[in-house]
Amino acid sequence: MRLAERMERLGTETAFDVLARAGALQAAGRSIINLGIGQPDFRTPDHIVEAGRKALADGQHGYTPANGIPVLREAVAADIAKYRGVEVDPDHVVVVPGGKVTMFFAALMFGEPGAEIMYPNPGFPIYESAIAFSGATPVPIPLYEETGFSFDADEVLARITPRTRLIMLNSPANPTGGVVPRETFDRLAAGLEAHPRVAVMSDEIYSRLLYEGREHVTLLSYPHLRDRVILLDGWSKTYAMTGWRIGYGVWPAALAEKATRLAINCNSCVNAPTQHAALAALTGPQDSVETMRSTFDERRKLIVAALNRIEGIGCVDSAGAFYAMPNIGGTGLDARTLQDGLLEEAGVATIAGTSYGAYGEGYLRLSYAAGTEEIEEAVARIETWLGQRANAA
Ligand code: PLP
Repeated sequence: MRLAERMERLGTETAFDVLARAGALQAAGRSIINLGIGQPDFRTPDHIVEAGRKALADGQHGYTPANGIPVLREAVAADIAKYRGVEVDPDHVVVVPGGKVTMFFAALMFGEPGAEIMYPNPGFPIYESAIAFSGATPVPIPLYEETGFSFDADEVLARITPRTRLIMLNSPANPTGGVVPRETFDRLAAGLEAHPRVAVMSDEIYSRLLYEGREHVTLLSYPHLRDRVILLDGWSKTYAMTGWRIGYGVWPAALAEKATRLAINCNSCVNAPTQHAALAALTGPQDSVETMRSTFDERRKLIVAALNRIEGIGCVDSAGAFYAMPNIGGTGLDARTLQDGLLEEAGVATIAGTSYGAYGEGYLRLSYAAGTEEIEEAVARIETWLGQRANAA
């Protein structure tokens, strides 16, 4: 068989590898605490499950419009108006099987050999993978611990070349838990006026998971960028619906039709019952969202404080999502060695920062989508393991 050369360039999400290794160790009888996984440890709220079940029972078994049922796209537009204060046309919403699909479509739409696409590093690994797969050159945007894992707007603007087609951004962020401050977005948005051909994909999938009074800033709120911003969001994190596979993109007027065409070629539509469940999520009670957020908030405080008590580890506050990204420089270990040692010997699944790009060296990602007892036990195991190593040295 002779495969296309681009298959060599496709990356992966190592969180799934760690999950498989953790599962194998558990099956062999080992006690493993999993802080590697990036999904809420909650069930989808009952009223949402019920809406999906009812749709199935009512005979919603066929294809739907490729971009999603109109009532769902209208609900998405209403949700964006409510939580982001921005009006969008429901016809610019394209419902797809998960948040990831919008980023893949964006990479395919803008990427080709000779083009450059920028992406945050450390960042969600599929950005770099999808960009490379498209044939474009991935250009990293370094994120800095000193600014709560934000980027430097001037540095981003300075890296724009005549080949730059698209900038991918993510706030609140995976894997850092960082939230980009409004001033930084303002500065970037102002600078982009000088680059009218550069589009932006704003991954805002964690927009409802913010702490310490932090505000969500959407790139859609800058009027001069409206015709070149793609908003990526979905239901996976906000409503604990990772396994349902549904998300959406809000595309500029000129691109919505093209995104729909990609959907027609690729997935036809999202399965109908899931679209009805997603509708219930947006239009139904929102108290479960706040319950999850405040639970994550408690765990966040616990894990950050506990990590900071360990010698050799320093952890800045996680302001959003459900990840902590401690600096492990003081342990003397590289990220991969620490990840493997913790999994195999201490029984704690975490993810090496390098799984999120080269700038992740010196960091570990811990998900706090786990119970407080598990978090306490995991951090205790990490401390003991590091202590034993230090004593043995
Ligand atoms: N964007 C970011 C930043 C994520 O962390 C994730 C999932 O982990 C996604 C997108 C993809 O979400 P989905 O499961 O809806 O495809």
